[in-house]
This record gives sequence, structure tokens and C-alpha cells, in this order.
Amino acid sequence: MYKIEFDQLDQWIENYKIKRVLVQVPLGLRSMIPEVVRHLKTKNVEAIISIDSCWGACDLAYGEAKALAADGLIHMGHARMIKYEEVPTIYLECRVSDPTSLIRVADKVAEVIGEKKVVGLGMTVQWLDTVDLFIEKLKERGIIPLIGSKGPKTPYRGVVVGCDYTCIWSIVDKIDCSLIIGSTFHGLGAALTTSKPVYTIDPELGIVKEMDTEAENLLKCRYAWIEVFKNAKRIGVLISMKIGQRKIGTALRLKKILEAEGKEVDLLSVDELREDLLDNLPYDGYVNTACPRLSLEDQMRFRAPLLLPSEVLLSIGKLKWKNTIYSTKYLLV
Ligand code: SF4
Repeated sequence: MYKIEFDQLDQWIENYKIKRVLVQVPLGLRSMIPEVVRHLKTKNVEAIISIDSCWGACDLAYGEAKALAADGLIHMGHARMIKYEEVPTIYLECRVSDPTSLIRVADKVAEVIGEKKVVGLGMTVQWLDTVDLFIEKLKERGIIPLIGSKGPKTPYRGVVVGCDYTCIWSIVDKIDCSLIIGSTFHGLGAALTTSKPVYTIDPELGIVKEMDTEAENLLKCRYAWIEVFKNAKRIGVLISMKIGQRKIGTALRLKKILEAEGKEVDLLSVDELREDLLDNLPYDGYVNTACPRLSLEDQMRFRAPLLLPSEVLLSIGKLKWKNTIYSTKYLLV
């Protein structure tokens, strides 16, 4: 169902004279491993598959590739986010080639959204090749689709990742609602940070889902965790070791700001944040400068508040709740 860009891969192998490669594959694309490995074998390239987690294009396994003396890194399922490379890197985006499942939901979309609506479209990179046809189908049903500009973390217009919805943010004043093709994870991110209604399409499940109720409930929980954080005396500021999530400057600034508020603050480094890693640590609250979705989706697994930088500023009155939620500030500050 996903198209692998083998021509590009062959060219890259030739250009960099690749003999050994580390392959990173997100969970949902693991069934493609044999196809890729078989192809690499025909090119006399030794493949090592990383079975560590691979959450996004921010998460490049350069340490692993170097430790294994790999000549290159194949990163599957995401579009390029980081410009520089520590070892030669190719992104195999694995786009969907058959638009049938997406086209099938066009009627449902029209039913849920209604006619004559101006709709901001966002999608994961997998759906990029099918979107022109989908746009035609929406127009036939009286919907007016718009695509905004590309963002700092996406190389294509219309593509969203869990922490960048520029294609919606950039046109939010012109649309009635937005439609995110991919999963509820991506739809929820848009619904937390845009003021207009958001719908998610999951073409594989044939679902069109309104996301605003879920977003509202999540924001209520975030508000409660911010209140808990206010009483925390000792704070750990987390710095991610993942290359695209490493924000040392932000962590240092937040440490200084919190210390000025009378908190005792330490900097903590971590690669893959799990709840057990926080066991026995002497902190009442944490600041998450790594992937923002850890605070949003995974907070309940942690016993202490895990606040985003924007939420820290909210907790000390340097940002106002009404100016932060449903705005880009929420994920990006
Ligand atoms: S949402 Fe998280 S995992 Fe996804 S690209 Fe952003 S930082 Fe990376």
C-alpha cells in the first residue's frame, strides 16, 4: 500500500558508496522491512534494522549508526525535518499510492462539514500524492479546500507533524474549519492550537471525527496540571538527547526564569522519557523541552506535572491562558 522510492534510494547508495546502512522504521511501517532489506541485498548493502522507537523525523539514530560503523541512515515514514546530517541520510517517505480509501470518505466529509465551507487541509506526508484528487472530490461536493504554507518542520505545503501545523495556522483567518488527513493524533494537535473547528479523517478506518471536544477535555487537564505545578518547589528541566528535540537554550532560559520565581531547578538529560526514569528523583514537577506531545498524550503515566515551556510561563503569569490556547504559542513557545 505504501510506495517506496527505490530509484532515489539506489542513487543515494551510489553517491555515497554505501556498504552498510542503519534502517529506522516507525511502528506502523514495520511490515515494509522485508521489502527494503531484500532490495538492499540486491545492491550488496548490509542492512541493520534499528528496533528502537522512531517517533518522528526529529528522532534520527545517528549515535546508533556511528556505533555500528554504518555508512548511512535510512529513515522511513517521515519527511526531512533536520537539514544537516551526521552521517549520510535518506528519508523514504512511504507515500500512499492508492487514493481509494481517501476518496471513499469524501461523501462522509461533505455530510459532516456541510456545503460551501472553506476548509483548511492538512495531512501526514503519506497522503501527499493523493490529495489533488481528494481536493477535486471535495470541490464536486461544494466544499472549498485551502492549503496554507509549509512550516519550519515540514518541507512540503499542507503537511503536518505533531508539533507543526503551519499549513493551518497560516490560513486560520480564512477558513471555517480544518480537516486533517492522517490520525486523531494529528487532528488533536491542530484542535489544541487553532481556534476553528477541526475534523480528522482516518482513511484506513473510514472515519471522519470532530476533535474539539477531545481538545477541550485535554486543555482542562492541562489547566489542572499547571495548578499543581505552581506549588512545586523543586523542578527538573528535561533536555532531550534526540537531535531534533534538543533545546538546550530553552532549558537554560526556563531554569533562570523559574529560579527568579524562587524555585530550586536542575537540568536533566534524557533520551527516551519513560515514567520509571523519574522514579526516586527529588522533584515535584518537570519542564518538558523535548517532544511537546509527551506532555499532552502521556502526562497520565507520570506522577508529577510535566509542563510545556508555554505552560510554565502560564503558571507564573508571564503568559495569559486565553492568549495561549488555540494559538501557535501553545506548542511553540
Ligand atoms: S511531535 Fe514530537 S515526535 Fe513528532 S516531530 Fe514533533 S517533536 Fe518529533
